[in-house]
Amino acid sequence: MTVQLILNVKGSDVVAVLPDDRVSGAVSTMMQHGIGAVLVRDEIGAVLGILSERDIVRSLARDGAACLDYPVGRLATREVVSCSPDDDMGHVMGLMTRGRFRHLPVMRHGVLIGLVSIGDIVKHRLAEVETEARALREYVSAG
Ligand code: AMP
Repeated sequence: MTVQLILNVKGSDVVAVLPDDRVSGAVSTMMQHGIGAVLVRDEIGAVLGILSERDIVRSLARDGAACLDYPVGRLATREVVSCSPDDDMGHVMGLMTRGRFRHLPVMRHGVLIGLVSIGDIVKHRLAEVETEARALREYVSAG
């Protein structure tokens, strides 16, 4: 199973904010979309970083509510790890486990074409396991 399979279902929309947007605005954006991270992109779409709820919680613990008024660029992680649509799901799960993050932008030839989260992967793995179990049950009951 490849990352492309997930994108075929969820599409290629990626919610993003600008580096000078306020953290409070990014929080509202995450709540509106029901997501745990936003990409930070410049006006022409280049990926500058990723801001997740974990970055915000960390900053709240350190600086208190004042961090809600910081520009997003101050809290975001700049070195963003990405994957390719052709990557196998096992590889992607390994990247997330080793990097301790739950979001991966998907790039093809340097162009952003989507984002997968650990939730997307779990959902697809569950569907896959259910299909395998159904096939096994049918095989056993046919025997
Ligand atoms: P997450 O588990 O995705 O909410 O993020 C945990 C931490 O990893 C936060 O500091 C994020 O900014 C960072 N992070 C999330 N996704 C990535 C990624 N694809 N590449 C690098 N850092 C990331």
